[in-house]
Amino acid sequence: MSPELDFSEPFTFSFFARSFADRFPDEKFVACYSLTTAAASSFIPLHCEPITTTAAWAAYSFTVPAEAKYVAVHCVSHDQYMFCLDDLTIRGRRIIQTEGTPMASQMTAPAIIDRCSVKEQANDEMPNALASTSRDISDSHMANTLEEMLRWNKYPTYEVYTELLQHFQETFPNLCQIDTILDTTPHPDLHHSIFAIHISNTLGQATTKPAFLYSSTIHGWEVVCYYMVLRLADYILNNATTDTAVQRLLDNVDLYICPLENPDGTYHLTNDLILKDGIHSTYHNYNDVQMNRNYPLLPGIEDTVNIQPETQAIIDWVTPRHFVMSVNFHCGAEILNYPWDAWTTAQRSHADADWFRYTCQNYASLCQAIDTA
Ligand SMILES: [Zn+2]
Repeated sequence: MSPELDFSEPFTFSFFARSFADRFPDEKFVACYSLTTAAASSFIPLHCEPITTTAAWAAYSFTVPAEAKYVAVHCVSHDQYMFCLDDLTIRGRRIIQTEGTPMASQMTAPAIIDRCSVKEQANDEMPNALASTSRDISDSHMANTLEEMLRWNKYPTYEVYTELLQHFQETFPNLCQIDTILDTTPHPDLHHSIFAIHISNTLGQATTKPAFLYSSTIHGWEVVCYYMVLRLADYILNNATTDTAVQRLLDNVDLYICPLENPDGTYHLTNDLILKDGIHSTYHNYNDVQMNRNYPLLPGIEDTVNIQPETQAIIDWVTPRHFVMSVNFHCGAEILNYPWDAWTTAQRSHADADWFRYTCQNYASLCQAIDTA
């Protein structure tokens, strides 16, 4: 779905679409627009019969009334394989998803298709793509005890987060060690630390295994990935002897997971609640600094001023560990950034840009193939 539009004359909405490959079933989609809201029930098809794709990219273009507030492409095939969409353009301008821009998903088929026969629709709101931007987390979404947390359907309070890390270390002493990256963050009223979960089957031994870092939630209110990396640590630790993929990982990688890089942002007003009403968590740290843009750039290019205690602590902790690669998780958009994130490739290409593109494309395709949500 597009961002909200405001045109004074009819405009063109175009894109390329295809099915995944010849050996997979074809997909069906409906291009549509809304004159009012982003709710699924507000959308009107631009054509009455769903369009069937083939495995070859095909261009589609529609003229949309000037009054349209949103345009969208709705995949209506069920239990097929993968609907591929590329180069969406509105009035000749390509839509590029940026962080924080809502991306619609999970529209149900009848919501739009039945508009062709002008049936009244159930008023199903189009959900936000990610809970991280929904601001609807209430007390009931918080785990207040470790036992509750280990059911893995709630977010931890800060207290439970620290208990969970202790639990990992105590339950798996030969595999897990908790590192403290920063003992005391800037928050003046709430005590927070930045931790890393070190997972390795060679703890305390010299190793030539490459070190890998997963880090998350440098933007405090992007909490889905905070939960996800904790769940990942839990899975790896609990399946270290039973899952061959996990065994292979542990035999070949010295793994670190920093689940919460910005605890002052996530637990901003209280340690017991996150996100609620958009005020309990913040994007920035306590000093109102955007920490994902707080690291030094290349020497001689541009100096980063006002390096925050969290940033400096992570630099100091990362440096001696010689990580060969790391992934930093965010929420709110489906996007993979690769170096240099400070410039576009046209401005300053990275020496390994081709490799990053290849790897990022494969990662994105695999994620979409496994779960489109
Ligand atoms: Zn982010």
